[in-house]
Amino acid sequence: MVAHQFQPRDLVAGDIVLDFVNTVTARDTDPVDWLDAYARLVSWGRLAGLPPAELDHLDAEAVAHPRRAAQALVEAKALRETLWELLTPPAGGAADAAARLTRSWRSAAAAVTVSDVGGRLAATVTAEASGLAYPEHFLALRAVRFLESLPSPRLRVCGGRHCGWLFLDTSKAGRRRWCDMATCGNAEKTRRHRSAVHL
Ligand SMILES: [Zn+2]
Repeated sequence: MVAHQFQPRDLVAGDIVLDFVNTVTARDTDPVDWLDAYARLVSWGRLAGLPPAELDHLDAEAVAHPRRAAQALVEAKALRETLWELLTPPAGGAADAAARLTRSWRSAAAAVTVSDVGGRLAATVTAEASGLAYPEHFLALRAVRFLESLPSPRLRVCGGRHCGWLFLDTSKAGRRRWCDMATCGNAEKTRRHRSAVHL
């Protein structure tokens, strides 16, 4: 686990669920977990587009209840690893992971409100209803929606060494091999940063 200042270049997957899974980098070699603290999860959420008003509430909550925040981080990461298993299933399937996602989803569903969001009905969670589990709940709801759209012929694992990021290939030709041309796509750069890509 390393401290990492998230930047826009860390969100290249084309879907927030995949970007969340990509908060562990180098899954192909020596995985590095970038979520070293609950506050880091919140700062990732800000960048990833979770509603800022909800996240503001969480910052204060985490300071007031550090132990509960640490536990909420553990649970968010467990969801992340469950999603990795479901997105890159072993030959035997991922029944255990599906059961774990069900638990996260049920916990999120218990906090859900169905309401009008910008003229459309949507199932949403709030920091008020979810507390420190808000990021996990938000992502569990999004994850089930995303997984229901699979299999996708456009879901890829980056071919870069020390990367292992997932992404959706939205290119016209459908032949994108890298999470990001500027990092993994540039073979020169990949060699030069062999031990430090994305760090
Ligand atoms: Zn990559």
